[in-house]
Amino acid sequence: MKSTITLLLGLLIVLNLFAQKTYIWCGSLIDGLGGEPKKNMTIVVEKNKIIAVENGFSKPGTNDRSIDLKTKTVTPGWIDMHVHMESETNPGSYMETYTYNPADYAFQSVKFADTTLMTGFTTVRDLGGSGVNISLRNAINKGLIKGPRIFTAGKSIATTGGHADPTNGYKKDIQGDPGPKDGVANGPDECRKAVRQRYKDGSDLIKITATGGVLSVAKSGKNPQFFEDELKAIVETAKDYGFKVAVHAHGAEGMKRAIKAGVSSIEHGTFMDDEAIALFKQYGTWYVPTITAGKAVGDSAKIPGYYPPVVEPKALEIGPQIQSTFAKAYKAGVKIAFGTDAGVYKHGLNWLEFVYMIEAGMKPMDAIQSATINAAELLGEKDKLGSIEAGKLADIVAVDGDPLKDARAFGKVVFVMKDGVRYK
Ligand SMILES: [Zn+2]
Repeated sequence: MKSTITLLLGLLIVLNLFAQKTYIWCGSLIDGLGGEPKKNMTIVVEKNKIIAVENGFSKPGTNDRSIDLKTKTVTPGWIDMHVHMESETNPGSYMETYTYNPADYAFQSVKFADTTLMTGFTTVRDLGGSGVNISLRNAINKGLIKGPRIFTAGKSIATTGGHADPTNGYKKDIQGDPGPKDGVANGPDECRKAVRQRYKDGSDLIKITATGGVLSVAKSGKNPQFFEDELKAIVETAKDYGFKVAVHAHGAEGMKRAIKAGVSSIEHGTFMDDEAIALFKQYGTWYVPTITAGKAVGDSAKIPGYYPPVVEPKALEIGPQIQSTFAKAYKAGVKIAFGTDAGVYKHGLNWLEFVYMIEAGMKPMDAIQSATINAAELLGEKDKLGSIEAGKLADIVAVDGDPLKDARAFGKVVFVMKDGVRYK
């Protein structure tokens, strides 16, 4: 008996010796908490967690390994709160609606997920696709493919003919009459059902389109598309399932209705007026700007034939407006979480949002926090993500250069770790 115990103890000691830790030596560390960058620091990672952050370059044990980022700037992994992993803009995008099978979306999403992770985004919120985005999340979580940690809305919810009605622009005999299952809901009962269907599908949160949008084949890019009682039904039902509600809105009226109904975030927010800004602050609603997508659709609309004729004027009016709306909202003290609408522009360029936010007057450290600790808070994952502190998941990126002095440095990612695994 005694010898068995001794043997077990010995085994435990040996196992512990072999519990490999990773020592990441950081020349400059921006921990996500908002303070000045710290010089010459070591992050100690064990399995998928950060277990210590130490001053100086700590010496690893014999079984440990070290990663030398002594000439780099290290930050928490970045979080993009608004992406679409299933698709990517191209002049043929609209035809894909008729020709693509779910597998086509699935295979291309594998590539987009890879690109997103390798450019420093270790977590994303997918705000709408066909439902393939749920399988993509699962495949990444199982380790079958490489990609960011995904929180997905599955299929967005719209009203009939609304921005996320999947049959907009179809000829009548193939339009059908999509309902809550397909993310189309009219009246409070259908709205409740649509939310419950997302729960059944395996979504992590709810996305609705409360106003018209740019890329849908429909006339208005900003009219309100849900009534107050419908929005209330969505928010109340979402609460029962622990879902946050993210809201696409360009026009002020739809935005105000959604904020008053108690949603978590407004996406784009293009035509927010002073009253809307006051409501954001009163309700503590988050703003996710997506300046990058705005600029991209504005540019693409200038290429003849890139978008259907009904989309073109909307893209030209709404797209270029978002950056100045962002500047106004930031100045007014609206809470901002980083989001780009990747897929509406090419995946992998998400970092440009940093450049555009800073260009519009945001302090670089605030921009970093919008993509780290603040985004984690909006996700409801602040205890696990968004900063480099002991106890958090080991999501860590490093760039060449100093992103606080030169925003282009965000485009020079040299190191990516997600969940304790090094990818770059
Ligand atoms: Zn979007």
